[in-house]
Amino acid sequence: KKTIRLDKMLGNLGYGTRSGIKALVKERAVAVNGVRAKDPGMQIDPEKDEVVLNGERIVYREFVYVLLNKPAGYVSATEDNRDRTVLELLDEEMNVFAPFPVGRLDKDTEGLLLLTNDGKLAHELLSPKKHVPKTYRAIVAGEAGEDDKRRFREGVTLDDGYETLPAELDVLSVVRAGDAMAPAEMAEASERTALLPALRGAELAAAQREGKPLSWVELTIMEGKYHQVKRMFEAVGKEVVYLRRVAMGPLRLDGTISPGEWRELTEAEVTALR
Ligand code: URA
Repeated sequence: KKTIRLDKMLGNLGYGTRSGIKALVKERAVAVNGVRAKDPGMQIDPEKDEVVLNGERIVYREFVYVLLNKPAGYVSATEDNRDRTVLELLDEEMNVFAPFPVGRLDKDTEGLLLLTNDGKLAHELLSPKKHVPKTYRAIVAGEAGEDDKRRFREGVTLDDGYETLPAELDVLSVVRAGDAMAPAEMAEASERTALLPALRGAELAAAQREGKPLSWVELTIMEGKYHQVKRMFEAVGKEVVYLRRVAMGPLRLDGTISPGEWRELTEAEVTALR
């Protein structure tokens, strides 16, 4: 059962500090289900309990919208027997609202994941008819180029026969054996995930990938099939060795939240999603 302390609930809603709320309770200002509250630490079920402050019903907000920068190593599920879930990255006060991930990122994928308890919005965003654009940055083994751009624009056939919708590929840079440095963002990405720990020295990185160049790319797709980005590159003979989602519809990861961190959406962002 999802409960929250009375003082936390009122605190979250901006009714004061913990001691301020303790004082309100002492002053007999708070009632729960028609009974004067005596203990600021009493557990409240925000869905069922009626909290009244100075005669005014407190409506604990119904919906929450969380933008998470998912780190690698977590699964996009609410429960899992083996792996840590993205919900473990939120705090207790947020989990009271029982948010769930809107769509999935693979366990080894980083980046933008929206979580909400607004089932209707989630359903709309996930609708295959809606074509919400999703933008990824990836490191792929091999030299991505004009041919891949054209093939992605025309649509590729995945391993299960599915024909992808037109997608936009940008090749941001190609690192070859002998190049001194990978672009900073590319090097940082691979270091953090330890997928290619030596990418800072591009020669070493290239050697790790059997001497093949590595490409740092950005791909925007309008759908979200299972492992879609990895399978699209597979369709053009390239392996994705690092993947991060940077945008979904109007939402963008702006660099202010590090992997593992999250923030609530602004009102403007919620409006833009609808
Ligand atoms: N495509 C993938 O292959 N994996 C993800 O996590 C997201 C898109």
